[in-house]
Amino acid sequence: MADCLFCKIIAGEIPSKKVYEDDTCYAFYDIDPQAPVHFLVVPKQHISGPSAVNEDNSAVIGHIYAVIAKLADELGLKDGYRVVANDGRDGGQTVGHLHFHVLAGRSLAWPPG
Ligand code: 5GP
Ligand code: ZN
Repeated sequence: MADCLFCKIIAGEIPSKKVYEDDTCYAFYDIDPQAPVHFLVVPKQHISGPSAVNEDNSAVIGHIYAVIAKLADELGLKDGYRVVANDGRDGGQTVGHLHFHVLAGRSLAWPPG
């Protein structure tokens, strides 16, 4: 999608610190980390957010969770981690391309503020 920040990052038009890439998803470190480990995993296909997931495009979500588990193992996140996908204004979504935050490296508060 032409005007999408994360589509531009996936295309390499905007630089990012890559964690992982395959045919369907791209993972990169968040520019404003909220934990010692904080990266984002995004589908290469433009999906505007969790509320745009449907039966036709949802297979990538299962794949992304499998990738997250693999990366968590490789990065040694043995004490655990949190996966977050924000949607819309009240969910705190600021970029309109579905992304999964992976946060680790400290004890995370629950519930979120
Ligand atoms: P959201 O608030 O939509 O759930 O998360 C968007 C995330 O994207 C934020 O954590 C923000 O720091 C991150 N972000 C915004 N712009 C960039 C960028 O240009 N590069 C990277 N690596 N992360 C970004
Ligand atoms: Zn996009």
